[in-house]
Amino acid sequence: MRCPYCGSLDTQVKDSRPTDDSASIRRRRVCPDCGGRFTTFERVQLRELIIAKKSGRRVPFDRDKLMRSVSIALRKRPVEPERIERMVNGIVRQLESQGDGDIPSDRIGELVMEGLKSLDGVAYVRFASVYRNFREASDFNSVIDEIAAHNPDLDPDDEPKATKLHLVPAPEDT
Ligand SMILES: [Zn+2]
Repeated sequence: MRCPYCGSLDTQVKDSRPTDDSASIRRRRVCPDCGGRFTTFERVQLRELIIAKKSGRRVPFDRDKLMRSVSIALRKRPVEPERIERMVNGIVRQLESQGDGDIPSDRIGELVMEGLKSLDGVAYVRFASVYRNFREASDFNSVIDEIAAHNPDLDPDDEPKATKLHLVPAPEDT
C-alpha cells in the first residue's frame, strides 16, 4: 500500500481489527520512510456497480471517489473515520441491493445527503448546498470539485499535515 504522504511503497501494518459492524477490516499503517500514519479498510464487494451518467455514458462505480467527496464535506468535522466508513459502506450496500440495472448518478447524491444528514449537520449543508445547485447540470463527480471550490478551507492537500508529524519511528512489525 503506497504511502499517501511520500509515495513510498514500503508501508507497514501496525494493527488490524474488524470495524464495529464487522463489515470491514481496519488496518493502521505507518510509513517507515516519512513516519506518516494512515488507515486502510478491506471490505467485501458483492457485485460490480455501473453508474449511468446524465450524458448516457456508463462508468464503473468508484468507491474511492465517493469516499473522497464525503471526506471533503466532512473535513475538520468531529466525526470518527469508522463512522464515515460505515456510512459509505451503507451507501454502497444500498446501491448493490438495487437490482442488476445501472444506477442513475443522481441516486448516489441522494444517498450521500441522507447519510450526511444523520452523521453531521454541517457536512450535510456543505454537500447539499453544492449538490442541489449542480445536480441539474452536472454529474455527481463534478460535485466533488464544486464542494472543494466552495469551501477553500477544505483544501484536500492540507489534510496530511495534522497526522504527519511523528518524529520517532515506530518499531517494526514482527
Ligand atoms: Zn511516507
